[in-house]
Amino acid sequence: MMKHNLIEDWMNRGIIRDEKLIDAFLSIPREEFILKKYLNESYGDYPLPIGYEQTISQPTTVMLMIEALELKKNDRVLEIGAGSGYCAAIISKLAKEVITTEIVPELAKFAKDNLKKANINNVNVIESDGSQGYEKEAPYDKIMFTAACPKIPEHLAPQLKNNGIILAPVGDFFGQKMIKCVKKNNNLDCISLGYFTFVPLKGKFGFK
Ligand code: SAH
Repeated sequence: MMKHNLIEDWMNRGIIRDEKLIDAFLSIPREEFILKKYLNESYGDYPLPIGYEQTISQPTTVMLMIEALELKKNDRVLEIGAGSGYCAAIISKLAKEVITTEIVPELAKFAKDNLKKANINNVNVIESDGSQGYEKEAPYDKIMFTAACPKIPEHLAPQLKNNGIILAPVGDFFGQKMIKCVKKNNNLDCISLGYFTFVPLKGKFGFK
C-alpha cells in the first residue's frame, strides 16, 4: 500500500474528500511515527504496535476522526492519547495548536521525538493523565480521545468552549461507538458516528 492508494480508496468510498484534509495527510510522513520494523507497512490501513501494548491508529480512522472535528485554522485542540504523535501531527496542519496528553512516559517521549523529526512546532506533548483533560491550557475548541472511554466524558465540558466539539470512542474493551458531542449553552448534544475499536483509556476516568 502507498499513500496514494489510501487516498484513492477514500475517494472511491466517498469519504474524506476535503482537499485540506488530504493535503494535511500528504504532508505528514507516517513512516516517521512507527517502529522501524514495520516500515514497509507504513501505509497499510490498519493499526500498528508502537510498544507498551499501544498502537498507532489506522489511517482511515485517524482521518474520519479529524474530519469529524471540523477543524478551523484558529482552533486549539486537546488530544488524549498522543501515542506516536501521528494524529496530533495531522491536526497541527489544520489548527493553530495541539495539546496532546500521554500517560505512558516512554510514549510521551516517542511522540515528542517523532514530532521533532517531522519538524512540527505547534504540538505540545504533555506527560499526564488526560482522562481528566488538561485544565491548565483550557478552554479548547476541540477535544478528542484516541483511547476507548467507559462513558461519554461529560466531565470535560467545562474545558470546552461553547460550540466546541468533543469526540470520543465510548463503550467497552471489545468495541466502541464514536460519539461526537457539540457544546450548546453548557449542554452536550451527542450523536454516534458508528463502531470502532480502540485501546482502553487508563487513569482516573478510564477503565479500572
Ligand atoms: N493518537 C495516537 C494513537 C494512540 S493509542 C496516534 O496517533 O498514534 C492511545 C494512546 O492513549 C496510548 O498511547 C495510551 O498510552 C494513551 N492513553 C491511555 N490512557 C490515557 C490517559 N488517561 N491519558 C493520556 N493518554 C492515555
